[in-house]
Amino acid sequence: MKVRYKLWIAMTALILFMGGAFFAISHGYLENLFRQYATAAQEQSADQLARQVAYYYQVNGGSWLGVDQYIAGYLESPDYHAQFISFILRDANGHVLVAAGPKPRSEASDTTTVTIQLGGRTIGFLTVSNRVLQGSPVQQNILQSMTAATVWGTILTSLVALVVGVWLMRIMTNPLQALMKAMQRLQNGDLNARVEISSKDEFGEVARTFNEMSSRLSRMEEARRHLVADVAHELRTPLTIMQGQLELIQQGVKPAEPATLLPIQDEVVRLTRLVQDLHQLSLAEVGKLPLEKVSTDIVKLLERMVSNFEVEADDKGIRLEFEAPSQGPIVTLADPNRITQVFVNLLGNAFRYTPQGGTVRVTVGREANAVRVSVSDTGPGIPEEHLPHVFDRFYRAEEDRSRGSGGTGLGLAIAKEFVEAHGGRIEVESTVGKGTTFTVYLPGNSADTNPLPLRHEKR
Ligand code: ADP
Repeated sequence: MKVRYKLWIAMTALILFMGGAFFAISHGYLENLFRQYATAAQEQSADQLARQVAYYYQVNGGSWLGVDQYIAGYLESPDYHAQFISFILRDANGHVLVAAGPKPRSEASDTTTVTIQLGGRTIGFLTVSNRVLQGSPVQQNILQSMTAATVWGTILTSLVALVVGVWLMRIMTNPLQALMKAMQRLQNGDLNARVEISSKDEFGEVARTFNEMSSRLSRMEEARRHLVADVAHELRTPLTIMQGQLELIQQGVKPAEPATLLPIQDEVVRLTRLVQDLHQLSLAEVGKLPLEKVSTDIVKLLERMVSNFEVEADDKGIRLEFEAPSQGPIVTLADPNRITQVFVNLLGNAFRYTPQGGTVRVTVGREANAVRVSVSDTGPGIPEEHLPHVFDRFYRAEEDRSRGSGGTGLGLAIAKEFVEAHGGRIEVESTVGKGTTFTVYLPGNSADTNPLPLRHEKR
């Protein structure tokens, strides 16, 4: 059954239930009010009659003799018919002297018994049952009118509520239907299916999430399609070089000596690296990257890495700086090999793009519950339009330069996947002509978050 109908039925049932409950409560309350009024009136009438018969008793010289005659006269008066439907007079010993009308059904519920006294002495008992109490026309009329008003009121409000309900349900469930249609399109393979976001409520939220999900799916599909083309493209260059070199050797143009084989070996190394990078990337992307996480002092790890890059820095005439808090280790739970690979990629890029006389700086710091490591350089920077793509596979802002200098275009994609596999994130900031800063945030040890003064090391 459609949600629209379910909501509609629920609303109708609620309205009917509320009408019924209102009717039952008000009916019961009114009946109780009538009962109280009738009991009070009955007691008053009984008191009045008791005083009359007491007076008779007194005038009659302290005897009930002839009281039936006296009562008979009273019974004929219109007062009696208006007030009582039954009437019993007993003497002080409980013997019935006069009884009129039907026997009261229950002594307790709808009858009133009054003790008749004269000069402090009990001379008899009067039991009456009131007409009003047993359903006067006034009571009947009011209850009937109220029943009719409640029934009609419930029917009318239910009808209005149903019409308004249908309209409301339509408004409320329209976004859901639009979402259903879009989902069906997505199910049939249309990755461009999107929903119009028309409200800021939960439906709007679901529509936004759906749109994000489907555009993510379409991006992934696009990436998947590109991957095959990219891999083929990446393999083509080294294979062409190797084929060319081998043909020259086969044709005897070049001798098969180490110097001739070196470029072929270079290409084999490049291919091997490419295949390894692709393998690791694909593992990380599907969340299958094996991580051997241990408590790692990130300062020590980076110190070691930076010292390994010192020779390259000297060779290239690049100033290499390292900044870290002067006290205590900065510990994070990480796989040291993977994290090393992340920073080798970042430092490798920094050295690749920083010209002679430039500076590469590695900075370690603490953030709330995170460890922050920045690798900045004074290289050419990355143009703004390239920045959102630098972490994509095979993306090269400077196509020829990167390939020529040995880049596979996978370094940053791998760094990002590895960092994210550790529950961290990586960001890039760059200004063309000034330089680039990559910042890695890794989950930190919460006991280790006091900000400490920085230690500067310049090499
Ligand atoms: P590659 O192996 O080709 O360097 P990466 O994924 O590491 O691939 O980098 C992607 C692209 O981002 C590079 O081709 C380059 O254009 C740009 N890039 C990365 N790091 C830097 C940097 N420090 N300075 C300038 N450009 C950079």
